[in-house]
Amino acid sequence: MAKVTQCQSCGMPLDKKTPAGTESDGTLSEKYCHHCYQNGAFTMHLDFDAMYEYNLKRFQASDMNKIQKFFLNKMYTKKFMAKLDRWRN
Ligand SMILES: [Zn+2]
Repeated sequence: MAKVTQCQSCGMPLDKKTPAGTESDGTLSEKYCHHCYQNGAFTMHLDFDAMYEYNLKRFQASDMNKIQKFFLNKMYTKKFMAKLDRWRN
């Protein structure tokens, strides 16, 4: 299985700042970050639109620099989020 490097719920790259979530047996999730997924379950049960708004606010409030935020505002669209595993169906 190819390693997923981007959370398949919120789209954040999985790295040191955004570590992976955990499965119910304590192993690290290969798909989701710790904001979205812990102990084998999603932490937030929002619908697609609410989750999009929530993520956008969260990223903008994070310590990204201006250039990263500029790209975030351009790239982080509903179209982008709809391609992630959690929302694709
Ligand atoms: Zn996430």
